Amino acid sequence: MMQKKIYVTQPYLPPLEEFIPSLQQIWDSKVLTNGGPFHQRLEEALCKYLGVEHLALFTNGTVALVTALQALRITGEVITTPYSFVATSHSMLWNGIKPVFVDIDPATLNLDPARIEAAITPQTTAIMPVHCYGHPCDVDAIQRIADNYNLKVIYDAAHAFGVQCHCGSVLKHGDLSVLSFHATKVFNTFEGGAIVCPDAKTKLRIDHLKNFGFVDEVTVVAPGINGKMSEFNAALGLLQLQHIDQALARRKELDAIYRAALQGVPGMQCLGDSGEKVANHAYFPVLVGDDYFCSRDALYERLREHGIFARRYFYPLISEFPMYRGLMSANPANLSVATEASKRVLCLPIYPQLQPEEQARIIQLVREP
Ligand SMILES: *Cc1c(COP(=O)(O)O)cnc(C)c1O
Repeated sequence: MMQKKIYVTQPYLPPLEEFIPSLQQIWDSKVLTNGGPFHQRLEEALCKYLGVEHLALFTNGTVALVTALQALRITGEVITTPYSFVATSHSMLWNGIKPVFVDIDPATLNLDPARIEAAITPQTTAIMPVHCYGHPCDVDAIQRIADNYNLKVIYDAAHAFGVQCHCGSVLKHGDLSVLSFHATKVFNTFEGGAIVCPDAKTKLRIDHLKNFGFVDEVTVVAPGINGKMSEFNAALGLLQLQHIDQALARRKELDAIYRAALQGVPGMQCLGDSGEKVANHAYFPVLVGDDYFCSRDALYERLREHGIFARRYFYPLISEFPMYRGLMSANPANLSVATEASKRVLCLPIYPQLQPEEQARIIQLVREP
């Protein structure tokens, strides 16, 4: 019997008929992009929903990361994590910046603040941590180091939509936070992203940079890029926002079911904590230990044979790709925790439309040899 394939995630799509009135408005107005009404409304709605002051929409998260580094005029070296999606470091290479990899904390798999200081050189200008799987970084420790050494902090918050920490939105930490609204993320606009920033002046600079550097018809102040979000994507975002609470609630349920079912399976450890009332359950990472009945890769293959496409996020490490592995900081001896994690973590399927019987099938395969 051919079973339906199950991927690690499936994009959430609202009912198509709910989108038609917005499309009609776009067709009628013929305003397709360049900061039109949907763009403006989505910026306002997201600020309100996320509990942040200012936010600039982008065509995707990667262009937003590249622009965030430019907005703060970052140069030289930036301290970052190898345990992330490759765009985190690529944004530095696109700016002629050298990434310096620092190992992660074994408990959170986020950049380990205790190891940052040793990596700082006179060329260091910033730190770019990632809230991996939407679990907040140790934002206070990172800020203390940044303050001591006069460094900027830009969070790659691509996984952290709607995540709260001890003092409100996690997106308020650091100098800037960058979101992705890619189809695979918790909140999607097909493609899209945003930079969260603390003040209107910074937002204005970011708005110029995402529009070729134009300030007015005849004034260009920087070699900006075309990073604007279109009206189509912005309208879709407004619609998605109406469904987001329901989608997050369903993710939370799926997370709790996995945790309960996998508890006590020898060698199987669920990362994070479902008790975090403010997590977004963007991913369901498990750590496959030595006591488990097979290796991580064997489990990955076994699930594939049953049409279940779990993902080894993040394997390989960014530091293992050819454009990075020559860096001194990319030496695996410098990154032993990240190296170990990349060999042991598997992200199991989690998304709002995952059916109870599908989840049960996944659980059965993970539990029983
Ligand atoms: C998805 C993702 C990005 C890239 O975002 P896009 O919108 O796909 O360009 C960057 N960093 C991390 C950690 C991501 O998961």
